[in-house]
Amino acid sequence: RKGWLDRLKAGLRKTGSSIATVFTGTQIDDALYEELEEALLMADTGVKATQHLLEDLKRRVKETKTTDPAAVKGLLADALAELLRPLEKALVIGEHTPTVIMVAGVNGAGKTTSIGKLTKHLANEGASVLLAAADTFRAAAREQLGVWADRNTVEIVSQEGGDPAAVSFDAVTAGRARGKDVVLVDTAGRLPTQLHLMEELKKIRRVVTKADATAPHEVLLVIDGNTGQNALAQVRAFDDALQLTGLVVTKLDGTAKGGVLAAIAQERPIPVYFIGVGEKLEDLETFNAREFAQALLS
Ligand code: GDP
Repeated sequence: RKGWLDRLKAGLRKTGSSIATVFTGTQIDDALYEELEEALLMADTGVKATQHLLEDLKRRVKETKTTDPAAVKGLLADALAELLRPLEKALVIGEHTPTVIMVAGVNGAGKTTSIGKLTKHLANEGASVLLAAADTFRAAAREQLGVWADRNTVEIVSQEGGDPAAVSFDAVTAGRARGKDVVLVDTAGRLPTQLHLMEELKKIRRVVTKADATAPHEVLLVIDGNTGQNALAQVRAFDDALQLTGLVVTKLDGTAKGGVLAAIAQERPIPVYFIGVGEKLEDLETFNAREFAQALLS
């Protein structure tokens, strides 16, 4: 497990070092808080979460009567971990058979890769998985999902040029008939006209519920950790349209600034079931607020 944490730390290093410089002085004064505010905003933390963290930090400094700037960094880690804690939640399957998981995300976010990783993760837990290729618009998307299905040796429901909602309906029905534990529905990230994307996704959601009145049991959004405040905008838009139950935040091994998770925790505290820390099948980790806060500030 150590390797991925190092990759996460390496990915977040730039943020970590710019925040660290804030605490190299000898005094805890307004200048320190101003510098910290700037560093947090630069790290994609957003205005609201930044204000929240600063207030919480000042309270902690007062309470502990801290006078050493270096110790303030530790208090910031505590404040950040507390803010992020509501995002900590495990994806539970098995309450319904099959558990239907709809996965959304804009193209390039890492959706297909994350579905491949998630399939492996679920298979490791002993679950049988059926994949549904509901992105019927892009042949490449279907093919790529097929590659992940082969790598994981799981079945896939796919139909060239078919109706995405119909493919999803068929997959849920097939999942039940074949006794699968999980049906993972991969949806389109972009349509010829962007305006129709949300309508299409809402239709898939409705039709999945027609196939199984309790489904979808999970609606996940995959976001690219590098896209900062834009990722927050995506969370808002997809949550408004689909009532998200969880997030997967990818590419945190890259050059992500990481603060966007604090912004999400402040404004839309939707559980982060997993984080992506590499391109390989096993590079999927569960989210831990304390670990993440420490990685961000290390
Ligand atoms: P989609 O268009 O959302 O389905 O995105 P893809 O799954 O095709 O991923 C887009 C690119 O991001 C690919 O090159 C992936 O290998 C890469 N990628 C996905 N997740 C991660 C991650 O956690 N870390 C890194 N470094 N790359 C990732």
